[in-house]
Amino acid sequence: METKQFKAESKKLLEMMINSIYTHKEIFLRELISNASDAIDKLYFKSLTDDGVGMNKDDFEILINVDKDSRTITITDNGIGMTRDELENNLGTIAKSGSLDFKSNNNLGEDVDIIGQFGVGFYSAFMVADLVTVRSKAYGSESAYEWQSEGVEGYTIDECDKAKAGTEIVLHIKEDTEEEKYSEYLEQYRLQSIIRKYSDYIRFPVKMDVEHERKKEGTEDEYEKFIERETINSMIPIWKKNKSELKDEDYNNFYKEKFFDYSEPLKHVHVKTEGTATYNALLYVPAKAPYDYYTREFEKGLQLYSNGVLIMDKCADLLPDYFSFVKGLVDSEDLSLNISREMLQHDRQLKLIAKSIEKTIKNELTKMLKNEREKYEEFYKAFGLQLKAGVYSSYGMNKDVLVDLLMFWSSNEEKLVTLDEYVSRMREDQKFIYYASGESIQRIKNLPQTEMVKEKGYEILYLTEGVDEFAIKMLMNYKDKQFKSVSAGDLDIDTPEEKEEIKAKEEENKEMFTFMKESLGDKVKEVRLTQRLKSHPFCLTSDGDLSLEMEKVLNAMPTDNKVKAEKVLEINPEHGIFSKLQDLYANDKDKLKKYTQLLYTQSLLIEGISIENPVEFSNMVCELMVE
Ligand code: ADP
Repeated sequence: METKQFKAESKKLLEMMINSIYTHKEIFLRELISNASDAIDKLYFKSLTDDGVGMNKDDFEILINVDKDSRTITITDNGIGMTRDELENNLGTIAKSGSLDFKSNNNLGEDVDIIGQFGVGFYSAFMVADLVTVRSKAYGSESAYEWQSEGVEGYTIDECDKAKAGTEIVLHIKEDTEEEKYSEYLEQYRLQSIIRKYSDYIRFPVKMDVEHERKKEGTEDEYEKFIERETINSMIPIWKKNKSELKDEDYNNFYKEKFFDYSEPLKHVHVKTEGTATYNALLYVPAKAPYDYYTREFEKGLQLYSNGVLIMDKCADLLPDYFSFVKGLVDSEDLSLNISREMLQHDRQLKLIAKSIEKTIKNELTKMLKNEREKYEEFYKAFGLQLKAGVYSSYGMNKDVLVDLLMFWSSNEEKLVTLDEYVSRMREDQKFIYYASGESIQRIKNLPQTEMVKEKGYEILYLTEGVDEFAIKMLMNYKDKQFKSVSAGDLDIDTPEEKEEIKAKEEENKEMFTFMKESLGDKVKEVRLTQRLKSHPFCLTSDGDLSLEMEKVLNAMPTDNKVKAEKVLEINPEHGIFSKLQDLYANDKDKLKKYTQLLYTQSLLIEGISIENPVEFSNMVCELMVE
């Protein structure tokens, strides 16, 4: 018989499975049971509208059999089954599109991560088995097929006998090694406990022929063995159970299995509501952003069930974009089973549920921020960007929902603080909420512009992400306090006397500044004296709405519409450079021109803006050095 090759990616994944050092090999059973349950779901769904299926809900089952002598575990389901083509396509290639990216994702070097992130499903059988046989008959089909593989070498497909529709998977369990006792998976009690741990909620019975002992009738102390087919799982979905029955561990295990995450979630919420919207929900806040979270590929959504039956895997309408990181499910009796995607969008009930879920998430996050600060900071590291983007998007429509969930790094506290915390400790004479933008905390710390604001003892919020300043601009103010960039033209930090003094000095040197501005052409809007520097000689700021940082962010986007901030070169009159400039203006205008160029270019470097001609800049510096 011809041996077929696996597709390249599948082969790679298989190799990893076979040589896996993953410590939770037991999950192979959960993967196979979950596939079986999905297959039954499909046939059950069909049976609701098609009498031809001829089965009732109670007829469906998943059977697990162990045979120690032949070292096999057999998982049988009476679900929808697979045709020859389906066997080929589903088991010969990786089904999950996400898995294909794993090679390019460099933080997924370890197999632990791949298994955790993608839930590689069927292939996990190869973690414990050295021969896998799948016999399947698709519903409505006459013939059955057998797929068989020992691993990377490939697989065979051949016709076989099978009476009823469904799938039977036989795993031949590997021999024990020094490190790994595979034989444990041939113990009934071990399999039972794995089933209870991971597959308890599966809606169809997972049955095993369990061996028991009983007293032999008519004897005093003689025992005999007998076998009874038992249902191992409780079949009650975890979200329908009472909260008092459930431990954190139950919630977390369910999460990890269901949503393919290997890390514990930060938070779970179990909602049972009746009233305008009647539903059960299980919501989770993950600890880490999925690898594709901040990409277009990421699909938000909650699983949607109608009275225990899955009707949609990712119902996007249940989550606003700014809470798209939430994983979980909603089960409502108010939704019809046969509702289509299009109808769902307009469903009044669904809208009510979505509103209520949004409120729940907001409350939970608020509680976490208040009571579990460290946890919240962990959350914020992973998803704060999404909240800030949420403030900015839709023209700020949702800013009120989100504003109190925001945090920024504080110059005074050296940690993340909320806006409420900032405002509550503002000094009496302080008019604004000050902020500074830059690539990193360290870079902002060194920004000359922060000097005077700090000198006056005001706290500064450090904005390090591209979206930050856009979000701040959208907020405009918080509790009637206006936000103000330390680089803003109208910093308004000086006393009236100081203002007068600067104005007078500026008037005196007006011609020099005009000369300097002209030598820079349209690169700057103005050259003037500064109000915000103490020891630093000069800095670059901007007038108007567009800041230097925003210019950087916008111009980094792949469009041709480049924007330009109104840049201002500010000189510190208290620094020696100022008298030097005055001197040059009086005696050597050509040199002043060069110095002005140099100052401007340096100010760009300080701001982290790339300079157009670094060679020219360095030559000018060298020229000065040899003078
Ligand atoms: P996933 O279940 O995540 O899609 P798997 O590798 O576990 O990935 O399975 C691949 C596909 O094979 C499934 O999507 C399903 O179409 C099919 N399949 C697996 N097991 C069964 C089964 N017991 N009955 C019917 N189809 C199955």
